[in-house]
Amino acid sequence: MVDRAEPASLRADTGTRNVQTRQHNLSVLLTHLHHSGPLTRAELTRRTGLNRSTISALVTELTEAELVYETLDTARAGVGRPSPLVHASPKVCALAVNPDVDAIIVGLVGLGGVVHRRLRYSLKAPPSAARAIKIVCQLAEQLCAGARECRVVGMGVAVPGLVEAPSGLVTLAPHLGWQKEPLAAELAQVTGYATVAGNDAKLGLIAETLFGAGQGVSDLIYLNGSTSGIGAGVLCGGRPLWGARGFAAELGHTLINSSGSACDCGRRGCLETEVSLGRLLSVLGEGSLDADQLELTLLGTSDRALKAEMRRQIDWLGQAIAGFASVFNPELVLLGGFLGALYRALPERLQACVSQSSMSPLAEGLRIERARLGSDLLLVGAAELALQPLLASPTGVEA
Ligand SMILES: [Zn+2]
Repeated sequence: MVDRAEPASLRADTGTRNVQTRQHNLSVLLTHLHHSGPLTRAELTRRTGLNRSTISALVTELTEAELVYETLDTARAGVGRPSPLVHASPKVCALAVNPDVDAIIVGLVGLGGVVHRRLRYSLKAPPSAARAIKIVCQLAEQLCAGARECRVVGMGVAVPGLVEAPSGLVTLAPHLGWQKEPLAAELAQVTGYATVAGNDAKLGLIAETLFGAGQGVSDLIYLNGSTSGIGAGVLCGGRPLWGARGFAAELGHTLINSSGSACDCGRRGCLETEVSLGRLLSVLGEGSLDADQLELTLLGTSDRALKAEMRRQIDWLGQAIAGFASVFNPELVLLGGFLGALYRALPERLQACVSQSSMSPLAEGLRIERARLGSDLLLVGAAELALQPLLASPTGVEA
């Protein structure tokens, strides 16, 4: 699981009363409720090590700040009085943004990882950063106008490219053609929301680890396949790997075929040139397909050329995963986007290829699965980034 020592340990501070201790304990409580779903006061007491009266005071403070609410948990009560169940309020939201080459998506995501609504703006060509900002503003305004009961605390952006932490400067997004774009700063200026940006796949990793198939796993690799290539996020010992400038785990640009095709990064034979949605679509004779249509096509096809291309891509993917396993020794490899669809079509072939290409102890027990959050994944990850200041200091952040 993600090491929740960042930004605050999920153990409560039972020390002397002061403002910092109180804010820390409010943070611990709200973070538990956000990541785990509704909990009784008794469960909160057990998880945090705080006594009942302290929990009661903290819940009251979070309720007054409209960050949580309580219901009576009649189902769990058994004999005796029903126990109040504390919920993080899904009306406390972040705007989550995912710009890509064929569309810009903006969603409204509440505490608890609830995607209330999202809007998609289709594009015929990759947008400039300035155009993307205009479209984001338009979609965000539309979303907020339709959800006046929601309180937006910030904006998170999942970018298919290298994003410098913590400034949110997009250093390079090769498929979008962006270089050194101060995206987070400009969006903050235009919208008035505190805005943070991160690499899309790394945010997908965080979302799957907190809310999806990666829950409870400390060592995992997430590979995200999109129209912009293959992004990745790596969790090592419960901590996401960021690297010196936040660029770690660009696994899509691992060289796997020295005689392969030219890559947008300027090199040749990267994983994402050999395993590519564009190549699948060109065999299909399609310009684009939505994720569900693509999956149905891959699962049901009897087309020999398409099947051969799927096998070719699975074999390269298997070799690449075997290489990643020898570097990171993960327990789980999660596949999202078109990689999930490809895996679902040929699961045994991928498993066999990884086993054959690995040193045997590294492949033993290595699980490969699809990401679970589907098309909400990147929005939930982007929102998580934007909700961090609130979670770290629940009553110290102005909406
Ligand atoms: Zn490359």
